[in-house]
This record gives sequence, C-alpha cells and structure tokens, in this order.
Amino acid sequence: MSRPCPCESKKTFDRCCEPFVMGRSLPETAEKLMRSRFTAYSLGKADYLAATTCAEERAKLDVEELGQYCKAVKCISLRILSTEAGGKDDETGTVVFHAKLMINGKRMLHREKSRFVREEGKWMYVDGDTN
Ligand SMILES: [Zn+2]
Repeated sequence: MSRPCPCESKKTFDRCCEPFVMGRSLPETAEKLMRSRFTAYSLGKADYLAATTCAEERAKLDVEELGQYCKAVKCISLRILSTEAGGKDDETGTVVFHAKLMINGKRMLHREKSRFVREEGKWMYVDGDTN
C-alpha cells in the first residue's frame, strides 16, 4: 500500500510515519517524532500519542479524552517551519510548526513550538507554546 503519509512529507505512509505509529521502529529525530504524532492525530491513535509523551506529562493525560479530541479534529496539513537540535546525538529539541486543522467544522491554524526530550533513548513530546 503506498498512500501518501498524512504528515505531508511527500513520502508514502509505509516509508514515513507508519513504522513509528505501528511501533515497529523509533523515530531518530524530534522532527520525525513530531511528524508521526501529527499522523497519529489524523488517524486517531491516542495510544501512540500517550506513549510518545514524556512520563511527567503522560501522567496528566486522559487517553480517552485524547481519543475524543482526535475524532473531533481533522488534520488538513502540516508545515514544519524550523527545528533546533533534536538530532540523533541530541538530548533535547524543539520543532516549530503550523498545522491546519478543522475542529467541529471550523478551520483553524494551530501554531506551536514543541519541546522534545529523550527518555531512555526515545524521543518524547514534552509540551508546546502556542500563540
Ligand atoms: Zn509521515
């Protein structure tokens, strides 16, 4: 199956986010994790979103609520504006992105600067500043 990846990398899903979202491999950069989380939002994979959130924030998450949010929101497009660190040899990283979303039939532009950290070698989402 070679449908385009929801994260708009212009790669096919099976060569982009699918191995991450399906738990077959780990994203080696913060940007790849960010993309796979956008894809998980598109596909309603709340478990993946929870699993890729850092331990401290995960404790506050309501996975059921997150699943409801995934159903209410439609991800239209993603644009990565900049990244800082977040590479193979980094322990922290940030990704600035714009995501076009549709929430309850209303279009909106979500702007976020997300923070990522490595936990036991795996990239995890910490939180984000929105404006
Ligand atoms: Zn992707």
